[in-house]
Amino acid sequence: MKQLSRTLIFILFITLNLPVWAQVAAPYEVATWQGFRTCAVSYTFDDGCAGQFSKAIPIFDEFGYKLTMFTVSGWSGGNWSKLQQAANNGHEIANHTATHADFSTIDAEAQEKELTTSNDQINSKVTGQQALTMAYPYCKKGNDALHKKYFIAARGCQGTIEGKTPADFMNVSSVICGSQGAVKTSAHFKTQANSAIQKKGWLVYLLHGVDNDNGYSPTSSDTLRKSLEYLKENEQKVWVNTFGNVARYIKERNCASISETATTATSISLELSDTLSNNEWYDIALSIRRALPDGWNNATVTQNGTEVNDTVIIVNGVKYVQFDALPDGGTIVISKVEGVSSNLIKNSSELKVTQQENMLRFMVPQEFGTEPQASVYDSNGRKIMAFSRFTDESRQGCIVLDSPAIVPGVYFFSLLGNGHTATQKIIVRVK
Ligand SMILES: [Zn+2]
Repeated sequence: MKQLSRTLIFILFITLNLPVWAQVAAPYEVATWQGFRTCAVSYTFDDGCAGQFSKAIPIFDEFGYKLTMFTVSGWSGGNWSKLQQAANNGHEIANHTATHADFSTIDAEAQEKELTTSNDQINSKVTGQQALTMAYPYCKKGNDALHKKYFIAARGCQGTIEGKTPADFMNVSSVICGSQGAVKTSAHFKTQANSAIQKKGWLVYLLHGVDNDNGYSPTSSDTLRKSLEYLKENEQKVWVNTFGNVARYIKERNCASISETATTATSISLELSDTLSNNEWYDIALSIRRALPDGWNNATVTQNGTEVNDTVIIVNGVKYVQFDALPDGGTIVISKVEGVSSNLIKNSSELKVTQQENMLRFMVPQEFGTEPQASVYDSNGRKIMAFSRFTDESRQGCIVLDSPAIVPGVYFFSLLGNGHTATQKIIVRVK
């Protein structure tokens, strides 16, 4: 009896812990959402309404956000070049069947024909990407096994925000927008975004018409713009990406594993892998963090010998190197960077440096006072340039890396003022 109860407790323990039974163990963490953000938001547009091309895509391009176009291939005669251009800008062109078929009224064979006809057309007309997600016309779910054969995920319309992992990747919930939907106004969009943040989940919007394009359930482009402005204001918390990329991220994250393969005093080599068999389908970078070893103040990360997106941050008093890397994408090497003193490094995301070739623009946080100093160090910690009086009244800073000592490579931009410091890594690619 005693033995039995122990077994039961053990089973209960395993069951309760399943969702966090990750193969990524301390000192590593894999982010729930890319960039260690709090939630994810995807905007999906159905049926190729005219305003999606003339209004929505230009607004998204302005914000640097990517959307998903669920395309009815048989209706897309005049749209292929616009879809190609959208794909070139990183938007997802995905499957909404060949004829907008109602899958509750046709058998699996007919469904397969709808899906393959549409996939073949999209993949032959739009290059540089593959149609790997789909949305059910009229929200009518199709044959599960069939959809799993062709797609990473399929979208339904249950009106709820998904959690960390959807219960059914072949029926991911979406929230209908526009005059016929639950989300009509900027206030509604804001409420949904706040709920996604609170729930730490995945919010998928379903849109059709934009302004007066005669599409179903139109949303005004002004409302759309305001919804993106709100997400931009909260970009530390909200990851905006396509339906396909968020689905890829979740699936990779849930079966990722990390193993350190070699360590020296100044470097750590590791392998990041997942158990997904098709690496061509699953090609989005996961965000990883690792506490820095004792005595390390700064670090830089490469994968396959190429610099990756990385930063050093302090969370709850612990200093981490945080980076994006591709599962099964080759050896990752974390290298110690000498010279930048530990108390210079703070959560660099506060700086929000944007870089245009050799010009850096950033906001100086209030606590840095009125006379901040900026410095640029090379990767050996040598100070290359120093700046003062680089801000305007709105605390926008701008500096130009025009020193002959700056050559393409990795540098550290550091801001100092009023006893506060922040550092961000920058990569100079051109001179
Ligand atoms: Zn539709």
